[in-house]
Amino acid sequence: MRLEVIKELDSADPFAEVRKAFSIPVNKIYLDGNSLGPLTLVAKKRALEVIEQQWGNDLISSWNLHDWINLPIKVGEKIGPLLGASSNQTICCDSVSINLFKLITCALAGNPERTTILSTTNNFPTDLYVAEGIQRLLGENRCRLQLVENHELNSALKQKPGVLLLTQTDYRTGEIFDIEELTSQAHANGTPVIWDLSHSVGVLPLEMDKWNVDFAVGCTYKYLNGGPGAPAFLYVAHNQQENCVQPLSGWMGHKAPFEFLLNYTPCNGISKFLSGTPPILSMSVLDAALTVYEKVDIHQLREKSIQLTELFMSLLSETGTLRQLQLCSPISAKIRGSQLAFAHQNSFGICQALAAKQVIADFRSPDLLRFGFSPLTLRYEDIWLAVEALQEVMAEERYLLPEYNKKLKVT
Ligand SMILES: *Cc1c(COP(=O)(O)O)cnc(C)c1O
Repeated sequence: MRLEVIKELDSADPFAEVRKAFSIPVNKIYLDGNSLGPLTLVAKKRALEVIEQQWGNDLISSWNLHDWINLPIKVGEKIGPLLGASSNQTICCDSVSINLFKLITCALAGNPERTTILSTTNNFPTDLYVAEGIQRLLGENRCRLQLVENHELNSALKQKPGVLLLTQTDYRTGEIFDIEELTSQAHANGTPVIWDLSHSVGVLPLEMDKWNVDFAVGCTYKYLNGGPGAPAFLYVAHNQQENCVQPLSGWMGHKAPFEFLLNYTPCNGISKFLSGTPPILSMSVLDAALTVYEKVDIHQLREKSIQLTELFMSLLSETGTLRQLQLCSPISAKIRGSQLAFAHQNSFGICQALAAKQVIADFRSPDLLRFGFSPLTLRYEDIWLAVEALQEVMAEERYLLPEYNKKLKVT
């Protein structure tokens, strides 16, 4: 495919305008927006405002004056539409790990006769570590983590586990589960579900309400561009809220936190899932970043994401580079999120050699090279340039150079 043809795709791109809302370093081709989304101009402006005006000048009165106290609710309401969630079911707080702790324990408490947390071996490590921690805390009589392969879920559900804990988009391969189908299978066995939407939200159309999902969590620093360490979100369906008493019963989830009462009484509704004081700086930045999504049609965005991914694949194939890498993602775009993973014994070196050419991808242990396609910011031309760089790295075996093989703490 010629570069001119690709440039035409960019001229017709409905998201070309939205791209202008971002501060993207010139000459850098960023294929890692699925790990840390890029900076938006509004977020940068808000960060300065919050530091200088709100914290710097208005100090403690900002809790009321700038409504800091309601920020978790306000941001939750902005995330809700991206989940297909109507009001008062989504709130912004803590990290995914902490929110999982709250929701897994709530789901298990719903039916003490059932003790199994059912999940898959390919789930994201933190999800499984938190489940393991709950098993240790409650003891194996009360809680047992059962891990199966994807294709075994169906039969494992028939044994009526206490909760089904799954991540929709596999962080390595990008393979996506059908949330509606699995939720309905779980419900048929009386099992509530918790979906981790970390690699889905902001890039896949989601319908929590329509699909009858009970609980969900997700990250905001990936496709939602909330900034490094931005707080996560949790979703609890209306019909689950009343019965839940979450165990991290901190004062922000209390009915009347500023009455400083001796005992804990939870708020009504989604606010009971709050624990401690919200991180105002990062939550404000996230709040601003989310305004970019107000004008985005998620179905149209999904279309672009698929086109970018397919273009990457076909250019790899045209240049012959595909033969040197082993595709680990599904071939069919329908069951694939906005990422592609390839296995190669020198994946780490390839990733570093690409970075030296200003093409940023990531390496996932033990041997995966992963490319994320953030459709709000990537141009079709970027895909062309990235494949050109990858072709050079592979043809010249640049990944073997010692400078590209030094271990790093974060990969
Ligand atoms: C990124 C990611 C997380 C991160 O969890 P934190 O506790 O917020 O660090 C969790 N689950 C999945 C599936 C992820 O992709």
